[in-house]
Amino acid sequence: MQDVEVKVCHVCAGAVEAHMEAWCNWCGNLYHLNSRADLPGTDCGQVWINEEHLALEFACNVCLAPPAEPGTLDDVLDLLEAAAAAQMTPAALEALAEAGQVRHRRTAGGVLLFRRGDLPGGVARRG
Ligand SMILES: [Zn+2]
Ligand SMILES: [Zn+2]
Repeated sequence: MQDVEVKVCHVCAGAVEAHMEAWCNWCGNLYHLNSRADLPGTDCGQVWINEEHLALEFACNVCLAPPAEPGTLDDVLDLLEAAAAAQMTPAALEALAEAGQVRHRRTAGGVLLFRRGDLPGGVARRG
């Protein structure tokens, strides 16, 4: 086994001094947690007391950050955007949607939404 000379924070990739070491209970990685009020330091996570177990719980900022949404909103298009992406007029795309030829969703407010991957490809190619 080799000793690692410089311990690196999992959150900010900076070196972690001995008085700032904390291990995340979720991912197990080292992060900055200033345990000494008399020394300067940064916090890249939090610690709190679990009232049920009366134990300290540690979590790094990576695990505390809200989870990324599956599929990005960039893939959700309204009628105008979808028509531009499919190189059609909005009316033509709406007609396709109403004919059930394109997957779509109509919101409660009446807005048509499409997913980029569902749009017809190459429809507008003219010979
Ligand atoms: Zn850090
Ligand atoms: Zn973590």
